[in-house]
Amino acid sequence: MDAVAPSPSPVSVPEEGVCHICFLDFHGREVTPVIVTPQLCGHRYDLHCITGWFEGLSLDNRVCCLCRKKALPLKVVSGVPDEESPFIQHEALEAVYQGNTEKLASMLTIAPELALRFFHDPVIDKDITLLHAAAWKGKADCLQVLINAGANIDISRHSDGITPAFVAAANGKTDCLKALIEAGANVDIPRFTDGATPTLIAVQNLYLDSLQVLIEAGANVDIPRHSDGATPVLIAVEKGFFDYLNPLIEAGADLNAARHTDGATPIFIAAHEGNICSLGALIKGGANLNAARHTDGATPAVIAAREGYICCLKELIEAGAEYEEERCCIIL
Ligand SMILES: [Zn+2]
Ligand SMILES: [Zn+2]
Repeated sequence: MDAVAPSPSPVSVPEEGVCHICFLDFHGREVTPVIVTPQLCGHRYDLHCITGWFEGLSLDNRVCCLCRKKALPLKVVSGVPDEESPFIQHEALEAVYQGNTEKLASMLTIAPELALRFFHDPVIDKDITLLHAAAWKGKADCLQVLINAGANIDISRHSDGITPAFVAAANGKTDCLKALIEAGANVDIPRFTDGATPTLIAVQNLYLDSLQVLIEAGANVDIPRHSDGATPVLIAVEKGFFDYLNPLIEAGADLNAARHTDGATPIFIAAHEGNICSLGALIKGGANLNAARHTDGATPAVIAAREGYICCLKELIEAGAEYEEERCCIIL
């Protein structure tokens, strides 16, 4: 047989549907090709050809060769992939992303193990479970179907250890977070890459509703991230997210937990930034007024004076902070 001749198998590929890489020269293969199309444009490729092309590219550059539009996930036009392609989305994952509870439920009835396994998401190039996918996209109905089908609610992603509860908190998908909590999810499992918990990520990503749901569920609000020891309270103060500070204080958060890097406490940071609202809330909450930064021994009052935040300095002194005028450039 001619090694470069088209496959002898009956191939029903429309004339306009030729692969734009090889023009249906099947490179001597004697198998029926799998024809795929990128997500947006409808240009057609042999899966074998485009897979080879994608493999040499970074995730962001995996676009249609012809029109440069986003290509992933590839959709199958004809043929059946004989092995799982990292560029084709599993239909169970697609059902979750589309919020198609009916399709998901019927797939789970036939194959209950789908609720437990990992799937490769071609768009983010990571392995996730259907529960992670539902929590990420806020598909609470699908999430409930998966919980009912016996999905492991605390399962961690291999690449970074994030749980479905973390994903829901990080993306403000509060309905999904509530459903996971009702099903008994552990809301304190951290991402292993940096130690961030669902509570910390809800503060960092500005999802107040998620933070409140986590607090009501009894989340530990004091777990710091590994990189610098910052707690949710410290992050709220550092970033000026005042609305996030009061719920944490009311939840009994440790107001004196310092950063590992320099020993700065939340009240020190508030004084350093001239953040009078946070400073007032921390004073009212009973924070240690004299906790010194360990790099230079500066106290909140000293740093407020050095930075010229007189209102913060006054507030600290009125609250009883020690203040050594000779250590500061400002004499009251
Ligand atoms: Zn081709
Ligand atoms: Zn295209």
